[in-house]
Amino acid sequence: MNPFEYAPALESTSIVTIKDRYGLFINGKFVAPKSGKYFPTINPSTEKKLSEIALASTEDVDLAVKAARVAYVKVWSKMPAAERGKYLFRIARILQERSREFAVLETLDNGKPIRESRDTDIPLAAAHFFYHAGWADKLQYSGNGSGPKPYGVVGQIIPWNFPMLMLAWKIAPALATGNTVVLKPAETTSLTALLFAEICQQAGLPNGVINIITGEGATGAALVNHPGIDKVAFTGSTEVGKLIATSIAGSKKAATLELGGKAANIIYDDAAIDEAVEGIVNGIFFNQGHVCCAGSRLLVQESIQDEVLTKLKERMALIRLGNPLDKNTDIGAINSAAQLAKIKELSAAGDAEGAERWSPACNIPADGYWFPPTIFTGVSQTHRIAREEIFGPVLSILTFRTPQEAVEKANNTPYGLSAGIWTEKGSKILWTASKLRAGVIWANTFNKFDPASPFGGYKESGWGREGGKHGLSAYLKASN
Ligand code: NAP
Ligand code: MG
Repeated sequence: MNPFEYAPALESTSIVTIKDRYGLFINGKFVAPKSGKYFPTINPSTEKKLSEIALASTEDVDLAVKAARVAYVKVWSKMPAAERGKYLFRIARILQERSREFAVLETLDNGKPIRESRDTDIPLAAAHFFYHAGWADKLQYSGNGSGPKPYGVVGQIIPWNFPMLMLAWKIAPALATGNTVVLKPAETTSLTALLFAEICQQAGLPNGVINIITGEGATGAALVNHPGIDKVAFTGSTEVGKLIATSIAGSKKAATLELGGKAANIIYDDAAIDEAVEGIVNGIFFNQGHVCCAGSRLLVQESIQDEVLTKLKERMALIRLGNPLDKNTDIGAINSAAQLAKIKELSAAGDAEGAERWSPACNIPADGYWFPPTIFTGVSQTHRIAREEIFGPVLSILTFRTPQEAVEKANNTPYGLSAGIWTEKGSKILWTASKLRAGVIWANTFNKFDPASPFGGYKESGWGREGGKHGLSAYLKASN
């Protein structure tokens, strides 16, 4: 089937001003790193350099943590809660006002389609600040006792797949509960965090309440191990999450870890097939599949396997891969050469272990990092592509005959972040959901997010929850 041709509809980049070089944001100012070192950040859809970013050393991390401590002791912990809330409201409104600037910058630095950064990432980031702004002066009603207290200084580390959204998930609850922050964005996607630092200045946030230190894995490790940190909040891979858990063991530091996933998306034979096919596509191809809660393991009831597969292939032929700034684009660039290599390696393992690969015809641009939407059929539970997180636009398809078998297969994973259930029967949804070991379960939909709803995993998908009242308690010491 030939996709209907659209003329290109490119989003203009004129709204964004990217500096040649960025310092670290410490104590309310951009400062040169003591390390004297900088590293490039590129646009993954062109491989062209966008800017140079400061590499924070242990000494820089120390300065940021000290600034956050002084701000906590002298300003933030003394401020009435309602005043604190006003800063969050102000940040939320500025984020909305400057949303197009953030969306374009996110797409340039990350490679994700403008449609997604414009319609999902940035509106949800603003929503998180609005939601938490409302909680700032009502924490005694949040279920954490009548006088809950903040931890103090929080060290936060985020990944590259939703840079601004993950920043909002981290910073909004920390500030609302009265903590101060040192945040390290991912190496390949720091630009929106640095633009956010400018928003903190614009909002008149007291110096040192938020500090943003850019750098590499070693910078993140220096932050985690700094004795002046009271709590660590990390989102990223299970591998690094385990390293962090080990390094803080025996210390008094609190921690929340939001880690990887390998979610089952279960399609029962009584599901509305066309809707389910949309849900499968949204579940795995949204954000190039760089989604911790992606529906990367499809479990289809055997009797409808052929129909689902035929319709899925027809739908996949309509997916548009290409320039992320084009408003028609569904799949943008893979964020880095390293991530592309990982997707290729795991897909090759799928071939080698006997699964069958299929992708629609797709024009891959000459420059940049790209991977076509891909499905594997004939996948068994022992295959690496059924067990390991690929974190790309690759779907492993398995089948089942009974609901019991679906649940058993869905739970047969070291992860437990999310799951999807498609059926017309409410009772089947409730039965299945009660048996699944996953933190977030969607029924007849997928990848829906709301700041009021807690998000987080079982087993190797992490510790703690973000969002909602549960997320607040992760930043508060309960007291009566
Ligand atoms: P990653 O390699 O674990 O990196 C995440 C962050 O940790 C980055 O800022 C990274 O810095 C930093 N880091 C690396 N090594 C570190 C160390 N030894 N100590 C402290 N910090 C360190 O993960 P990723 O590949 O960027 O992100 C993808 C992963 O995130 C996937 O597994 C995905 O499932 C998970 N994720 C989970 C959620 C959730 O809510 N559960 C949400 C989104 C993503 P550099 O960038 O400099 O390496
Ligand atoms: Mg980049």
